[in-house]
Amino acid sequence: MQGEDDDWIGPWEGGAAGPGQVTRAEFVLMLRRQGIRDRRVLAAMEQVPREIFVASVGRREAYADHALPIECGQTISQPYVVAFMTEALDVAPEHRVLEVGTGSGYQTAVLAHLAGHVFSLDRYRTLVEGAAERLATLKLDNVTVKAGDGFLGWPQEAPFDRIMVTAAFPEVPQALKEQLAEGGRLIMPVGPEGGVQELRLLEKTPEGFAERRLMAVRFVPLVPGMARAL
Ligand code: SAH
Repeated sequence: MQGEDDDWIGPWEGGAAGPGQVTRAEFVLMLRRQGIRDRRVLAAMEQVPREIFVASVGRREAYADHALPIECGQTISQPYVVAFMTEALDVAPEHRVLEVGTGSGYQTAVLAHLAGHVFSLDRYRTLVEGAAERLATLKLDNVTVKAGDGFLGWPQEAPFDRIMVTAAFPEVPQALKEQLAEGGRLIMPVGPEGGVQELRLLEKTPEGFAERRLMAVRFVPLVPGMARAL
């Protein structure tokens, strides 16, 4: 389908698509094959140009199904994990969503296609500034990003219908549980730094939290406090 721009992800590089370049259709097919079924999630993943969030690698690499390094020693999650977490969170157009761990802003952009508004914070100013620029380039105006400590959440904007944490810690921070609306959902990798972590999905009910364990994952750690440098 060479020549039909809208069938390819992102801008053309050098005019023509070479062999092995990934099309939007192939990227979505890969996610479908891995079990992602939610059409809204697949459509959101299709619309966000992943290559602008991982500028240091080539376009082909950007769409490969693995995590990649970003600035400040952090990582952007593999596409399948982004899609899986987004699907499990079940985000609707009226939802206010809190994301802890903006990183590159890729996951933020995917959430912005599904939610009413996304509030996202990261402990590195550099990352927040870079993410804000990319999100503005994509004209996603239903997003607010700021530098902040995820352990404190974002009390001024609480409660949230959905919360996604993209960094791991041995337990879900108390402030985040408190800032979740009743009936709301929270997803987060729980476990030690560098060890086996498990994605947990919490639902806030009148009786307390219902918890499901979804799958083993490996995330960078949630580190208390703002980063001093960078
Ligand atoms: N979702 C991101 C990847 C995040 S990597 C993406 O799509 O690119 C995890 C992020 O969590 C890192 O950027 C790290 O700086 C951030 N982080 C770690 N501890 C934090 C804390 N206490 N508060 C806010 N962000 C934190």
